[in-house]
Amino acid sequence: MTYKLSNNAIRISGILDRFLRYVTVDTTPDETSRSTPSSERQRIFLARLAGELSTLGAADVTQDEHGYVMATIPATSSRQGVPAIGFIAHVDTSPEMPGTGVRPIVHRAWDGQDLMLPDAPGVALRLAEQPELRSQVGHDLVTASGTTLLGADDKAGVAEIMSAAEYLLAHPEIPHGRVRVAFTPDEEIGRGADHFDVERFGAACAYTLDGGECGELEVESFSADAMTVTFHGFNTHPGYAKGKMVNAIGMASAFVDALAARVPTPERTDGYEGFLHVHAMDSSVERTSVRLLVRDFVTATLKEREDVAERIAREIASREGGRVEIRIDSQYRNMREVLEQHPTVVENAAEAIRRAGLDLRRRPIRGGTDGSRLSFMGLPTPNLFAGEHNIHSRLEWTSAQDMARAVDVIVHLCRVWEEGA
Ligand SMILES: [Zn+2]
Repeated sequence: MTYKLSNNAIRISGILDRFLRYVTVDTTPDETSRSTPSSERQRIFLARLAGELSTLGAADVTQDEHGYVMATIPATSSRQGVPAIGFIAHVDTSPEMPGTGVRPIVHRAWDGQDLMLPDAPGVALRLAEQPELRSQVGHDLVTASGTTLLGADDKAGVAEIMSAAEYLLAHPEIPHGRVRVAFTPDEEIGRGADHFDVERFGAACAYTLDGGECGELEVESFSADAMTVTFHGFNTHPGYAKGKMVNAIGMASAFVDALAARVPTPERTDGYEGFLHVHAMDSSVERTSVRLLVRDFVTATLKEREDVAERIAREIASREGGRVEIRIDSQYRNMREVLEQHPTVVENAAEAIRRAGLDLRRRPIRGGTDGSRLSFMGLPTPNLFAGEHNIHSRLEWTSAQDMARAVDVIVHLCRVWEEGA
């Protein structure tokens, strides 16, 4: 059975309407909060999604005490042993940019001219500066108005999963196994997987819809540690400091300089190269902490780079008569290590993308996703494209046609799993 879903204009306008409704709701997380969800506005939006799922006819719709929404699209296949699969999107948007008062603008059948953002004079999306726009001429593009995020990351994913659920529930003649859906808070502040109940979700695998370009399938992420190097000096009155003062700021500066000469840094790396990134410093003469992000696709390389950094720090501290303390916190690991043990999860996604008539693109994620954490929590979870571009920026944009294609991929994926059982 084949489907040509995205060619249907009604479906394109359906997903667009849904997306436009969602992006005007503020779901910014609050990094300073210790609770989950970190902001009440996320819980409210999640409750609304739960209500919509019930209205669409989904089963087992729940919202737990942490705000997470889960639901079931019951199996329609008569075959035994079709595994349950899941689809996941996060409702929060990046706290790096305002998410209040989002005014989405639809540029219908885009002609390739500069896309002006009316609330930010002089700011425009230009074809010459955005190679990913090349394939978008003729599409209905959506941007914000120039002062906020759009929030396609990840409201596009939310809208796509919701539209796919609506489609599958309205077409029980399409055979598929049990499909689970989850909407989660606080991905952008790194806590999206913290309270995800993998057991209750009850799926053999899942797919996050939180990627960029049409046809993308992401099965590799960075492995990540956080490293804190704290230099302890000795402070005394600077007028009478000769031979006594040991300046922790000086040791930290020497450390940062020496490090940059020995290990790769973000501004000099791309593709499969990892890096060590000095991203924050708390400084005083007595005590200076340098905070670093350690990233690589090969987990063992993290340790090698941390050892180099530690050696440099200790050399400097002993030369200057100070002391150094090193702390390493494991953050997340390359999901490939898990997905390699579940090749069908990746193969089926690739097949669904092909059936949707798209070119498969595989690109490593130079960061982490909830999927990297979930994979190591026992739920193998690669990431599928959702049509998000220029994320975390006021130049963020998406395309209604790409969102409709993502819906196609979800429907095809449900079919591929059923056929393979
Ligand atoms: Zn995202």
